[in-house]
Amino acid sequence: MPELPEVETVRRVLIKDLVNLKITDVIIKYDGIIDMDNDLFKSSVIGKTIKNIDRYGKYLIFNLNEGNIISHLRMEGKYFYLPNDGIDNKHIHVIYKFDNGYSLFYQDVRKFGKMIYKENNELFSTNPLKNIGIDPILTKKIDYRLIYDKIVSRNVAIKTTLLDQSIITGLGNIYVDEVLFEAKINPHRPSNSMSFEDVKHICDASVEILSKAIEYKGTTIRSYTSSLGVEGQYQQFLKVHTKKICSICKSTLNCDKINGRTTYYCENCER
Ligand SMILES: [Zn+2]
Repeated sequence: MPELPEVETVRRVLIKDLVNLKITDVIIKYDGIIDMDNDLFKSSVIGKTIKNIDRYGKYLIFNLNEGNIISHLRMEGKYFYLPNDGIDNKHIHVIYKFDNGYSLFYQDVRKFGKMIYKENNELFSTNPLKNIGIDPILTKKIDYRLIYDKIVSRNVAIKTTLLDQSIITGLGNIYVDEVLFEAKINPHRPSNSMSFEDVKHICDASVEILSKAIEYKGTTIRSYTSSLGVEGQYQQFLKVHTKKICSICKSTLNCDKINGRTTYYCENCER
């Protein structure tokens, strides 16, 4: 599943091609991708021009000359920018046509991805961005106290809290494991057992790891390969996720499930 660094990588590639292109048509082949009335989505988007592409957490935000398209890739969503006849397969569900003979194709094997149109004034005041947590990369100065108060109000495993996106957004299964390893915190520990220092370590590790992963264009592992010809290289820096031996103490890493998600950690180093 693409996490923050992979989505940021997609954003950086798409922005080079799409800015100032006018959307002349939208073809929706599978209506479940569009998280609103399909005709309203089309009438809101057709005729508008892409002015910028933004990102918040794992959401891409296509800023139009008026309004925005919010896109979440979920498990398998991928974009391809190609000539109008550039790609055709049963997993292409949405096609944006432009006035230059090219199209943006949205492919999604699992069909879990979502797109929705939002006016500027409702972008962050309505779902899906309404109750989203801080983006560790976009937030200039993290309010540790605020994050601490939110984390200790939960009694579920810290890994579950970090995956739910409403306190810190952008971390998924891979990077939560890496962040907790860096912060030396056992992923099973209840959120309400975190000290202020623990929370500070989690926030700082999130910034550090996500920044480095963006620099290396994300992680390419079995669960996620990018489109757009960009292969992420951060997999070479993963310390626990998919690994067998702890790089610090050399003991065998634990691999079990937390809330159904495969979790790697070192019982010895992460307390
Ligand atoms: Zn260890």
